[in-house]
Amino acid sequence: MNLEISGGYEYQRKLVRKCIDYFILTQLGYPAKFDLTVKVKDLKTCYGYTEQVAYDHYKIVLDKSQIIKDFISTMMHEMVHVKQYLTNRWDGDGEEEACNLQRTLADNMWKDNWV
Ligand SMILES: [Zn+2]
Repeated sequence: MNLEISGGYEYQRKLVRKCIDYFILTQLGYPAKFDLTVKVKDLKTCYGYTEQVAYDHYKIVLDKSQIIKDFISTMMHEMVHVKQYLTNRWDGDGEEEACNLQRTLADNMWKDNWV
């Protein structure tokens, strides 16, 4: 797995890393056979989005002006979209699943003392 995290504050980049590790551990399983580029920046119009940039290479962009809990929740939301790409399985636009899981995953990560 090639992982590149840029932009935002250092604590945000560290959180992104933890979210990715937690998501892979609990939702995907190792080894992670995909590349991921994460950019933290001012988005204004949304909290985040995910796109496929190449075969098995995904890019997540996160809005940096979110409080920690929302930031983690958004990152989990986007990781669900990555999983949807990887498994090629989603319903509709995939938003319902991502929205349903984001808070649970963020809360679990919090409870498991990953934050
Ligand atoms: Zn979404």
